[in-house]
Amino acid sequence: MERTTVLAQLGNRQDPRTGSISTPIYRATTYAHEELGKSTGYDYTRTGNPTRAVLERAIADLEGGCRGFAFASGMAAVHAVMNLFQPSDHLILSSDLYGGTYRLVEQFLRKIGIEATYVDTSDFASIEAALQSNTKGVFVETPTNPTLRVADLAAIGEFCHDQKLLLMVDNTFMTPYTQRPLEYGADLVIHSATKFLGGHNDVLAGLVVSKTEEIADKLYFIQNSIGSTLGPDDSWLLLRGMKTLALRMERHEQNALSLANWLVRHEAVPTVYYPGLVSHPGHQTQRLQASSFGGMLSFEVADARMVPEILKQVQLVTFAESLGGTESLMTYPAVQTHADIPEDIRNACGVTDRLLRLSVGIEDVDDLKADLDAALKYALNVLH
Ligand SMILES: *Cc1c(COP(=O)(O)O)cnc(C)c1O
Repeated sequence: MERTTVLAQLGNRQDPRTGSISTPIYRATTYAHEELGKSTGYDYTRTGNPTRAVLERAIADLEGGCRGFAFASGMAAVHAVMNLFQPSDHLILSSDLYGGTYRLVEQFLRKIGIEATYVDTSDFASIEAALQSNTKGVFVETPTNPTLRVADLAAIGEFCHDQKLLLMVDNTFMTPYTQRPLEYGADLVIHSATKFLGGHNDVLAGLVVSKTEEIADKLYFIQNSIGSTLGPDDSWLLLRGMKTLALRMERHEQNALSLANWLVRHEAVPTVYYPGLVSHPGHQTQRLQASSFGGMLSFEVADARMVPEILKQVQLVTFAESLGGTESLMTYPAVQTHADIPEDIRNACGVTDRLLRLSVGIEDVDDLKADLDAALKYALNVLH
């Protein structure tokens, strides 16, 4: 069945007793046993919850994996995956990683003796060059946040398979509607479902999908032992949001493409990062491995002094962290999402103090252009 159909039907036909079209929310924390050794399949809600189970099955099917796991946040999902590694294991990670993942690696994994090397994963040769005898995994974001560098998933997948490395892909920016890393050799897909999957800026959640039963068994043990599971209400809210994912992703892309092509010609904007632009270095790779260029774009303004003015002047676009919702949001990565990354590393990744990131919502694109145009022109005038 087409993914659009699967998404529209999420949660339906899950409760044969009542025929409930929307999956019921099971708030019970514990479940009765008929007799010793007999279980309905549910004992205690950390171990398994019927509402969460519908969500976990759904994300596994959408990504084409064998099992899914729902966590209390995207970071809890990343943390659970990182627990698959041991002290003295070495990881290769994207250099322009989500700031929270970078912080987790530097402040927590290093402490238990896990080693890490950051490379530009859009340059395959730099991944090969970072390989050590103790390398156990590669962690990739594509496109990256916020400069939208595109990694060649097929090449990295083949390399990881040959070298017996676990390939983990943070698929938050794309969602399984537009990119399915397991098809390119990834072993694990991770989501901050807080973003496009939830889609309404109203639920914090993380998801992981495992390609094999072997890794799924380990992850299940980690999920149940650490206990950072997603609650039933939030599981339901996420399922509810995901039903419209296909429609939303199409409009996000349409608006982002239109805005990127407009910004490229704007007098106040010297640089635009969007994989949908033919001039973007990852354009061809993105075309091959994803069915969309996504709803995220970043751009540099002419002068860093313009940034505070723009953030103050926008009336429709909201100055806020996060992304992937129906509402367009503008972020200042150097100060917000990437504040934990040292300045020299930040600048080397293109996260300068002139860079703004836009999570393009599903509003009318002409309204968005008018708002941005007014803010950019105001900021230019203040400079002169
Ligand atoms: C937001 C985000 C995370 C962290 O997810 P939370 O739900 O905020 O914990 C991880 N990776 C990427 C790419 C993100 O955008």
